[in-house]
Amino acid sequence: MSERRVPIIGGGLAGSEAAWQLAELGHEVDLFEMRPVRQTPAHASERLAEVVCTNSFKSEALDTPHGLLKAEMRILGSFLLGIADESKVPAGAALAVDRERFSTEVTRRLEAHPRIRVLREEVTELPSPPAIVATGPLTSDALSASIRSRLGERHLAFFDAIAPIVSRDSLREEVVYRASRYGKGEADYLNCPMTATQYEEFIDALLEADVHRAPEWDDVPYFEGCLPVEVMAGRGRDTLRFGPMRPVGLEDPRTGRRPHAVVQLRVEDRGERMWNLVGFQTRLKHGEQQKVFRLIPGLEEAEFLRFGSIHRNTYLNSPGRLSEHGSLEEEPALLFAGQLTGVEGYTESIASGLVAAINVDRLIEGREPVVPPPITMLGGLYRYLAEADPEVFQPMNANFGLLDPLPRRVRRRRERRLAHAGRALAAIREWCAAIDREAESLPERVRVPEQV
Ligand SMILES: Cc1cc2nc3c(=O)[nH]c(=O)nc-3n(C[C@H](O)[C@H](O)[C@H](O)COP(=O)(O)OP(=O)(O)OC[C@H]3O[C@@H](n4cnc5c(N)ncnc54)[C@H](O)[C@@H]3O)c2cc1C
Repeated sequence: MSERRVPIIGGGLAGSEAAWQLAELGHEVDLFEMRPVRQTPAHASERLAEVVCTNSFKSEALDTPHGLLKAEMRILGSFLLGIADESKVPAGAALAVDRERFSTEVTRRLEAHPRIRVLREEVTELPSPPAIVATGPLTSDALSASIRSRLGERHLAFFDAIAPIVSRDSLREEVVYRASRYGKGEADYLNCPMTATQYEEFIDALLEADVHRAPEWDDVPYFEGCLPVEVMAGRGRDTLRFGPMRPVGLEDPRTGRRPHAVVQLRVEDRGERMWNLVGFQTRLKHGEQQKVFRLIPGLEEAEFLRFGSIHRNTYLNSPGRLSEHGSLEEEPALLFAGQLTGVEGYTESIASGLVAAINVDRLIEGREPVVPPPITMLGGLYRYLAEADPEVFQPMNANFGLLDPLPRRVRRRRERRLAHAGRALAAIREWCAAIDREAESLPERVRVPEQV
């Protein structure tokens, strides 16, 4: 066991999960939470693990990314998911909670734990290891400054500007073509060609679409080089054709002609399963993104693995600066967890707190840190954080594009996803055995499919 108390900074979703797990592994934990001494603009209470927006942890179905992620976390014994189950409200296939009951119960259990001390104070400097920093998307200014000076100016961002990502196998191969502008270098991009009529219809739809209205504190300043696609379109009907949809040097090899406009897709992962709509950062509502961006030729049946968004969001350039298990490269036992590491979402943040606790325990015990294999949703997320391009890194939510492909092709989407789930859950059980952790059984309602 550690000789000193392990500090965990931030009593949000990731920090609360990490605190419980570490304490259960026998460590004395100091959980620092700045609320109510200092509030964030989004939190409304002083409770730990407050869910700041929707009360849903998304679907439980194993053929959805969050259903699979939750099943993996249940096998690993997630504390917060257990309390979410106890605080569940009816929400069809989703796990939604009575938010007050959920965070009240998390707070009560953490405060009552004999090895956890909850300290209501703002931490302004990075702690010394072993420690976990999980201060989330609204990390206080003072700590952000300390992180920035330690990691370097360009490794901490304060806003995201996320463009949607679509899955490769949902693109219409007969429409998109590979090319780079003027044939320079490798043909790295997938290009979606548009005629003048298609372009005009697309612009109309874009201008009519509903935009997410942000609260004042989240009203992020737009940088000229990174404007939302709908704002660019609003500046003039041809603005996009001279910006991200510029067709010059992108002749369609099938016709030999230059399209009227082109949407370029850039690959996000080494397995080439996830493709990003270049320059399409957006504040359109998710349903509107699906409707409008499916007008792009080649994307008519696109599966959206990540929707675009623009938010105030403090996050690290994980692939450029952190180790595979989410620590500073030079300080393996100073770990980051939650949204601050570039995962996006409640469930992802809790999961990352869980894995961070496993690793702090291992490091204190003199063992190597570990992450689950990339055939699991958790492992896929960790791999993304380690391997994404640090030059264009943006936060990522759980999605099936993060996982290694299956050994054989499964045509139908639902069956393919269930095959992934069967394989992933078996792998998480094996991983538990490999790290000497007891694998919990899944609730009966979660039906595990056969493995492929
Ligand atoms: C407005 C908003 C809405 C969101 N809506 C959703 C949604 O609907 N669904 C979804 O899946 N995700 C949503 N997210 C994204 C994300 O899932 C949540 O922010 C999630 O709570 C992240 O978990 P976390 O543990 O990383 O951070 P948090 O849960 O925010 O926890 C961080 C904690 O650290 C504390 N803290 C910060 N700085 C310090 C410091 N210096 N010292 C001590 N304590 C500190 C904060 O008070 C906070 O309690 C939203 C984010 C925001 C900002």
